[in-house]
Amino acid sequence: MSNCYEGHQHVAKVMKDVVTDGEGVRISVYVSGCRFHCPDCFNASIWDFQKGRLYDQSLEDEIMSLLDKPYISGLSILGGEPLQNLAITKPLIKAFRNKFKNTKTIWLWSGYMLEYIQNDAQLKPLLNDIDVLVDGPFVAHLKKLDLPFRGSLNQRIHYLKP
Ligand code: SF4
Repeated sequence: MSNCYEGHQHVAKVMKDVVTDGEGVRISVYVSGCRFHCPDCFNASIWDFQKGRLYDQSLEDEIMSLLDKPYISGLSILGGEPLQNLAITKPLIKAFRNKFKNTKTIWLWSGYMLEYIQNDAQLKPLLNDIDVLVDGPFVAHLKKLDLPFRGSLNQRIHYLKP
Protein backbone atom coordinates (compact mmCIF):
# COMPACT_ATOMS: atom_id res chain seq x y z
CA MET A 1 0.00 0.00 0.00
CA SER A 2 1.24 3.47 -0.83
CA ASN A 3 2.41 5.46 2.17
CA CYS A 4 0.33 8.44 1.15
CA TYR A 5 -2.81 6.51 2.08
CA GLU A 6 -1.59 4.32 4.95
CA GLY A 7 -1.31 6.86 7.79
CA HIS A 8 0.13 6.26 11.24
CA GLN A 9 -2.76 4.45 12.91
CA HIS A 10 -3.71 7.13 15.44
CA VAL A 11 -7.19 8.26 16.45
CA ALA A 12 -7.66 11.78 17.79
CA LYS A 13 -11.01 11.16 19.45
CA VAL A 14 -14.07 8.98 19.60
CA MET A 15 -17.36 10.70 20.35
CA LYS A 16 -20.53 8.92 21.34
CA ASP A 17 -24.17 9.79 20.74
CA VAL A 18 -23.41 12.51 18.18
CA VAL A 19 -26.31 14.03 16.22
CA THR A 20 -24.36 16.38 13.93
CA ASP A 21 -22.11 13.94 12.00
CA GLY A 22 -24.70 12.40 9.70
CA GLU A 23 -28.28 11.28 10.10
CA GLY A 24 -29.47 9.80 13.38
CA VAL A 25 -27.52 9.30 16.58
CA ARG A 26 -24.01 8.15 15.73
CA ILE A 27 -20.56 7.20 16.98
CA SER A 28 -17.91 9.48 15.46
CA VAL A 29 -14.29 8.45 15.01
CA TYR A 30 -11.86 11.26 14.22
CA VAL A 31 -8.64 9.86 12.73
CA SER A 32 -5.40 11.80 13.15
CA GLY A 33 -3.56 13.25 10.21
CA CYS A 34 -4.34 15.13 7.04
CA ARG A 35 -1.98 16.38 4.33
CA PHE A 36 -4.46 18.65 2.57
CA HIS A 37 -4.02 21.53 5.03
CA CYS A 38 -6.99 23.50 3.75
CA PRO A 39 -6.79 27.13 4.93
CA ASP A 40 -9.08 27.74 7.93
CA CYS A 41 -9.69 24.00 8.43
CA PHE A 42 -11.79 23.56 11.57
CA ASN A 43 -9.80 20.44 12.52
CA ALA A 44 -6.25 21.76 12.03
CA SER A 45 -5.37 20.57 15.53
CA ILE A 46 -5.42 16.98 14.24
CA TRP A 47 -3.38 17.38 11.04
CA ASP A 48 -0.58 15.64 12.96
CA PHE A 49 -0.57 11.91 12.14
CA GLN A 50 0.90 11.01 15.55
CA LYS A 51 -1.75 12.74 17.63
CA GLY A 52 -4.01 10.84 19.98
CA ARG A 53 -4.34 7.16 20.65
CA LEU A 54 -3.08 4.16 18.72
CA TYR A 55 -5.81 2.31 16.87
CA ASP A 56 -5.48 -1.21 18.24
CA GLN A 57 -7.77 -4.14 19.01
CA SER A 58 -8.76 -2.66 22.32
CA LEU A 59 -9.89 0.64 20.76
CA GLU A 60 -11.67 -1.19 17.96
CA ASP A 61 -13.55 -3.26 20.54
CA GLU A 62 -14.52 -0.10 22.42
CA ILE A 63 -15.90 1.48 19.25
CA MET A 64 -17.89 -1.65 18.37
CA SER A 65 -19.31 -1.73 21.86
CA LEU A 66 -20.40 1.93 21.64
CA LEU A 67 -22.08 1.18 18.32
CA ASP A 68 -23.90 -1.87 19.67
CA LYS A 69 -26.97 -0.04 20.97
CA PRO A 70 -30.35 -0.06 19.26
CA TYR A 71 -30.65 3.75 19.11
CA ILE A 72 -27.30 4.17 17.33
CA SER A 73 -27.76 4.63 13.57
CA GLY A 74 -24.15 4.00 12.68
CA LEU A 75 -20.53 5.01 12.44
CA SER A 76 -19.12 8.32 11.18
CA ILE A 77 -15.47 8.44 10.13
CA LEU A 78 -13.92 11.89 9.98
CA GLY A 79 -10.58 13.50 10.54
CA GLY A 80 -8.05 14.42 9.73
CA GLU A 81 -8.37 12.51 6.49
CA PRO A 82 -9.83 8.99 6.66
CA LEU A 83 -8.46 8.13 3.21
CA GLN A 84 -4.92 9.03 4.28
CA ASN A 85 -5.44 6.68 7.22
CA LEU A 86 -6.32 3.36 5.62
CA ALA A 87 -4.50 1.54 8.41
CA ILE A 88 -7.51 2.56 10.51
CA THR A 89 -10.30 3.09 8.02
CA LYS A 90 -10.08 -0.35 6.39
CA PRO A 91 -10.06 -2.50 9.54
CA LEU A 92 -12.66 -0.27 11.18
CA ILE A 93 -15.07 -0.66 8.27
CA LYS A 94 -14.38 -4.39 8.11
CA ALA A 95 -15.06 -4.86 11.82
CA PHE A 96 -18.24 -2.79 11.51
CA ARG A 97 -19.60 -4.84 8.59
CA ASN A 98 -18.67 -8.13 10.23
CA LYS A 99 -20.62 -7.18 13.34
CA PHE A 100 -23.52 -5.12 12.05
CA LYS A 101 -23.81 -6.16 8.38
CA ASN A 102 -26.18 -3.62 6.81
CA THR A 103 -28.27 -2.92 9.89
CA LYS A 104 -26.43 0.37 10.55
CA THR A 105 -24.78 2.88 8.24
CA ILE A 106 -21.29 4.24 7.66
CA TRP A 107 -20.76 7.92 6.78
CA LEU A 108 -17.26 8.99 5.76
CA TRP A 109 -15.86 12.50 5.21
CA SER A 110 -12.95 12.96 2.80
CA GLY A 111 -11.09 15.83 1.20
CA TYR A 112 -10.77 13.65 -1.91
CA MET A 113 -13.61 14.06 -4.37
CA LEU A 114 -15.75 11.09 -5.37
CA GLU A 115 -14.37 11.13 -8.93
CA TYR A 116 -10.79 10.86 -7.62
CA ILE A 117 -11.72 7.96 -5.34
CA GLN A 118 -13.50 6.16 -8.17
CA ASN A 119 -10.32 6.33 -10.26
CA ASP A 120 -7.87 5.18 -7.61
CA ALA A 121 -7.39 1.43 -7.36
CA GLN A 122 -6.62 1.51 -3.62
CA LEU A 123 -9.45 3.80 -2.59
CA LYS A 124 -12.25 2.70 -4.89
CA PRO A 125 -13.08 -0.58 -3.08
CA LEU A 126 -14.02 1.40 0.03
CA LEU A 127 -16.97 2.89 -1.84
CA ASN A 128 -18.63 -0.55 -1.73
CA ASP A 129 -18.66 -0.54 2.05
CA ILE A 130 -19.72 2.95 3.01
CA ASP A 131 -23.25 4.27 2.76
CA VAL A 132 -22.64 8.00 2.51
CA LEU A 133 -19.57 9.95 1.36
CA VAL A 134 -19.24 13.65 2.13
CA ASP A 135 -16.51 14.75 -0.25
CA GLY A 136 -14.19 17.58 -1.13
CA PRO A 137 -11.83 19.85 0.78
CA PHE A 138 -13.03 22.69 2.95
CA VAL A 139 -12.84 25.92 0.91
CA ALA A 140 -12.83 28.95 3.17
CA HIS A 141 -14.37 31.42 0.72
CA LEU A 142 -17.24 28.99 0.14
CA LYS A 143 -17.87 28.52 3.84
CA LYS A 144 -21.52 28.41 4.86
CA LEU A 145 -22.55 27.88 8.43
CA ASP A 146 -25.98 26.33 7.96
CA LEU A 147 -25.09 23.51 5.56
CA PRO A 148 -26.04 20.15 7.01
CA PHE A 149 -23.02 17.88 7.64
CA ARG A 150 -20.47 20.00 5.72
CA GLY A 151 -18.63 23.28 5.98
CA SER A 152 -18.42 24.77 2.49
CA LEU A 153 -20.63 24.88 -0.59
CA ASN A 154 -18.30 22.80 -2.78
CA GLN A 155 -18.63 19.77 -0.52
CA ARG A 156 -21.21 17.21 -1.58
CA ILE A 157 -23.20 14.47 0.12
CA HIS A 158 -23.26 11.25 -1.93
CA TYR A 159 -25.70 8.54 -0.93
CA LEU A 160 -23.89 5.50 -2.35
CA LYS A 161 -26.47 2.85 -1.53
CA PRO A 162 -30.08 2.73 -2.68
S1 SF4 B 1 -9.34 17.78 4.17
FE1 SF4 B 1 -10.60 18.16 6.01
S2 SF4 B 1 -9.25 17.79 7.76
FE2 SF4 B 1 -7.94 17.99 5.95
S3 SF4 B 1 -7.32 20.13 5.96
FE3 SF4 B 1 -9.12 19.97 4.63
S4 SF4 B 1 -10.90 20.38 5.96
FE4 SF4 B 1 -9.11 19.96 7.28
